[in-house]
Amino acid sequence: MKQHSGKVSDDCSEIMTRTRQAGQPSAALVRPGELKFSARDVFHCELRQRVDFYFSSTGLRPRDCPQMYLKTVIVVGWCVASYVPLAFVAGPWWFALPLAISLGLSMAAIGFNVMHDGGHRAYSAYGWINRLMAMSLDLLGGSSYVWARKHNSIHHSYANIAGHDDDIDLGLLARLAPDQRRLKIHRLQQYYLWVLYGLMPLKWLMYDDFRDVLRGRIGGHRLARPKGWDLLIFAGGKVMFLSLAFGIPLLFHSVAAVLLLYLVASFVQGVTLGVVFQLAHCVEEAGFPLPGKDTGRVETTWAAHQIETTVDFARRSRVLSWLIGGLNFQIEHHLFPQICHIHYPAVSRLVEDTCREFGLRYAAHETFLSGVASHFRWLRRMGMSGA
Ligand SMILES: [Zn+2]
Repeated sequence: MKQHSGKVSDDCSEIMTRTRQAGQPSAALVRPGELKFSARDVFHCELRQRVDFYFSSTGLRPRDCPQMYLKTVIVVGWCVASYVPLAFVAGPWWFALPLAISLGLSMAAIGFNVMHDGGHRAYSAYGWINRLMAMSLDLLGGSSYVWARKHNSIHHSYANIAGHDDDIDLGLLARLAPDQRRLKIHRLQQYYLWVLYGLMPLKWLMYDDFRDVLRGRIGGHRLARPKGWDLLIFAGGKVMFLSLAFGIPLLFHSVAAVLLLYLVASFVQGVTLGVVFQLAHCVEEAGFPLPGKDTGRVETTWAAHQIETTVDFARRSRVLSWLIGGLNFQIEHHLFPQICHIHYPAVSRLVEDTCREFGLRYAAHETFLSGVASHFRWLRRMGMSGA
């Protein structure tokens, strides 16, 4: 997939010029219902130009934002401050339990804020800084190598397309998209899936990564088996994670205590990650388009597809935006994955205005809870027979 940096490219300028010369309506004149395929291309070009202008007029940099470096110190410090007393200090359950919960939340925060931006090359203009930030996932037990393929290229290209987007495939226990097979158990999925989200990291770190690498594919998509440095980082990351999660704590605590507290931290991390990602794509307002049967192609442009399949939430909550790495602005993230999330609130105003002018629907939940309620209703609907 072509990566979009927010910088207007030559081909985009060309499209704009040709469109205007051909007498097609400019952005401001396109009315809802008049969209054509080419007009949607113009939408993307127009939007990229506006975002480009935002950066050139304000003098802000799309990456290497000082706030991000400060944020990284804070969330990594939070994680270390939760882990060290938990691993090295023996204490009663009321001392350990809050620390395990805090550790789970801090691991999710590193994932949202540091690793995700690094993995998308949105953290810095320097490749090695992005790589370093992305590798925080290896320390947390996941594989930055597998994630780059699974998330960056598959999820971001095929968001919400059943059979392609691995993020909406939770196996037999969940039906998240209309084109997935419904089983009787799905009638209750709106109740039990929250627990399953909590168990996802365990499956991801201990099973999925190894399965994907051994098979050399993720779902129906090929995954080149890691070699050289990639293989070393994959294996080294797993060893370091297992040492941090189990090896070191077992020197100071009983097996039962280590396993129980690991499960608590992992569960909290999983529920947090699961809910944030599901609120962006698995709610009533999100579309689940399919490729045309004859053409095998999705009949929209890439940008229109991202907007159709993604929903923002709680955009006015600065605290939530800070904690979850701007992932409540998922539309902006999907359109501009290589722009640092610090800029999403400003970019969202440009995206929403441009969508309105082009007659594209821009979906956002006002609050976090309204997003949660919509996710609950979507799960209930997908679990009903005949839905
Ligand atoms: Zn992403």
